Formats: sequence, structure tokens, C-alpha cells
Amino acid sequence: MQLPWPPETLREWMQAEARHDSGVYAKRDLMLVRGQGTRVWDAQGREYLDCVGGHGVAVVGHSHPAVVAALEAQARRLMICPGSFYNDTRARLLQRLGTLVPGLERVFLANSGTEAVEAALKFARYSTGRPKIVAAKRGFHGRTLGALSATWKRAYRQPFEPLVPEFEHATFNKLDAWEQAVDDRTAALLVEVVQGEGGVHPASAEFLTGLQRLARERGALLIVDEIQTGMGRTGKMFAFQHYGLEPDLVTLAKGLGGGVPIGAVLIGPRVRALKPGLHGSTFGGNPLAAAAALAVLDILEREDLPARAAEVGAYLRQGLARVSGPVVRAVRGLGLMIGVEVRQKAAPYLRALAERGILALPAGMNVVRFLPPLTLTRAEADRILEAWAEVSQAPPAAPSETG
Ligand SMILES: *Cc1c(COP(=O)(O)O)cnc(C)c1O
Repeated sequence: MQLPWPPETLREWMQAEARHDSGVYAKRDLMLVRGQGTRVWDAQGREYLDCVGGHGVAVVGHSHPAVVAALEAQARRLMICPGSFYNDTRARLLQRLGTLVPGLERVFLANSGTEAVEAALKFARYSTGRPKIVAAKRGFHGRTLGALSATWKRAYRQPFEPLVPEFEHATFNKLDAWEQAVDDRTAALLVEVVQGEGGVHPASAEFLTGLQRLARERGALLIVDEIQTGMGRTGKMFAFQHYGLEPDLVTLAKGLGGGVPIGAVLIGPRVRALKPGLHGSTFGGNPLAAAAALAVLDILEREDLPARAAEVGAYLRQGLARVSGPVVRAVRGLGLMIGVEVRQKAAPYLRALAERGILALPAGMNVVRFLPPLTLTRAEADRILEAWAEVSQAPPAAPSETG
């Protein structure tokens, strides 16, 4: 089929993308072309309240002016500087990240979530001299082979086997299972504080403190994956801070760069000192991403966004539980990371919300997930509640076939 170039209709634009795309993404029937704060616009100029936020990336909102300004200034000055040279902007970011949590003073910078997880896994094996990693059933840690080995979902794993050996999965929120799985060959326990992809399941305090105790007792490290829960999303800068945990390694990405790709690992004192050449990344710690992340950290602090996520998040979560109709099985979450489990597939509910100007994303087959910017106002939360009250009364009708 010959496509006209440049494409004229919206349908032709979508076909143009689909035609040369690898094909690994299930596409939604929307073309987004602009974002500002909590809003995004599609190619036809329709406005949406964005609770997808690039899968939870837009913690400070889309195209925050301070992030844009930081990027512009840094782009004019220096965009790339290898880790083998010092750089002033990177120095400032390392100083900020390395003083966020007492004890987690060292930082490795990468470019994505999965890379942060890979680095944490390597550091844990190196540090302990042990091979085994115990991760959670229903957990999600990324798509590269190491992170994928820690990820639970069979459909993501099975086509790529054999994966990295010595990964085991134990039931989330069941300490007994971890008591069984963790032994003197275990390098690390890896866990999300609130499982994101797996359906928005918060961990219990006893489970998390139990994992930490178990790790200490058996000489293993505790890795907390804060890629989705971090940067204020759950009401504190990091979700583990709700429980007074002292993890040995913390992975970050998503919200850290304000929309610019970045990943990071915070490294604690129980991790053995790392040596030159042990790990690395061409783009990791590049000044452009560092400048964006510095701007994000400023905004989070200046606008007190973690506190706001706690407040508006509780309001939205309680509201969703209150207005939910009979199709809803459960409302779960922490701060502005909220999942609503429905009795059927989530996709028709996502379409029905989009028709009402609200974008949300799925978490597994039957959870509707809301990951809005932390700048969300109560009035905006009310708009979500209004739409959800309508949508959740009965399973939505099948979409009408549009051209
Ligand atoms: C998104 C996510 C990842 C993977 O991040 P990518 O940047 O997509 O590689 C890993 N862990 C958690 C908890 C995530 O939510």
C-alpha cells in the first residue's frame, strides 16, 4: 500500500507510524501532539486530563517551564560529557541525589528504569559474591534480560527464555514464602513498595520490614524498585520512607527527568565499593538529563508536591471508592498511584474515560490505573470522579466503528 507523504488525514498519520513501527506496542486510537501541566491534546485539538502521564513520568506535569528552561540552557552549554570526565551539572545532581536519603550517598546514573535495575542487580551480585536474586510474584522491573528475569509475567518472559539464571519469585506480601526462598546464596531481595504494572498492590508494613530483617539476617541486600513510586508519587519522596526502611539499593527513573530519559541507582553503605570499569553507560549522567532532573528536584521541593500527592491522592482514592458503581471490585493505592479493579477487562473503561476527556492506563488485564501529575488539583480530581461515577455503573458498550 502506498501512503501519501506527508499524510493528510489523522488515519493516514496513524498508518504511517504503524507501518514502520517495530510492532511491539498495542496502540490506542489516539495521536497525542502536545502537553502542558496536567493536560495533553490530540491531533484534532481535543484536550484530555492526563492520568497516563507517560506511564507516570510526568510528576511535575508536561513541559514544566522550569524543566524546559533548564534543558534549553544546558543544551546551549554542553549536552554530553562521558563519565570519565567531571562535569559541573552532573556534580550538582549527584550532590542532590546523594543527600536525599541519609546513608544512600552514592549514585549511579543510567538512562531508563530497566537500566537502573540492571545496574542494581550487578552491584548486588558483585557486592555479595552471590548469584541468587529473589523477586516478587506479580512484580515488574523492566524488559532487558536481567530486569526481565526479575519480572514475573510469563507473557513477557517466555518468548525470550532462557533468561538469566538464579532468579526466583516469591509471593508478594507473604513473608513466609521469602523466608523459604532467601538463603546463603541470595545476593538480593528485589521488591516494589506498591506493585505498579502488577495491578497497583501496596505492600504491607510488616512484609517490608520483614524483608529488610531477612536480608540483614542472611547477608543479602535489599533492593527497592522506586521507578514508579518514587519522586513524590506516593506522598513521600520515596515510598519506602512511609515504612522507615533502609534499603541498600534504590532504583529510580520515570519521574526523575521531567520527561527526559534518565535512570538512577542510589547506593547504600552495605554495598561494597565499586571499582572503575565495573559498569558504565555512554549516556548515563549526561548533563542534559542531569539539568532536567535538577529542575524536577527543585520543583518537587518548591511546590511541595509529595505532600500534595498525599493530600489530593487520598481525596481521589476515597472519592473513587465512594462513587464507584457495581462494576468495581476494589480501589487501591498510595498517594497519586491509584488502581481501580473492575470485574471485566480494563480496556473498555479506558475508552469510556477517554470519551469523557480523561486518559488513564491499564495495570494488568482488569485494573484501571491513574498516574496523574502531582500538580493535580482537587477540582481536576472532581472531574475524574464525575467521569468515573458515570463509567463504573455498567460495563461500557463496545466502541462504535469510526473511520
Ligand atoms: C516502568 C518500570 C520499570 C522499567 O522502566 P523502563 O524505563 O521502562 O525501562 C521498572 N520497574 C518499575 C517498577 C517500573 O514501573
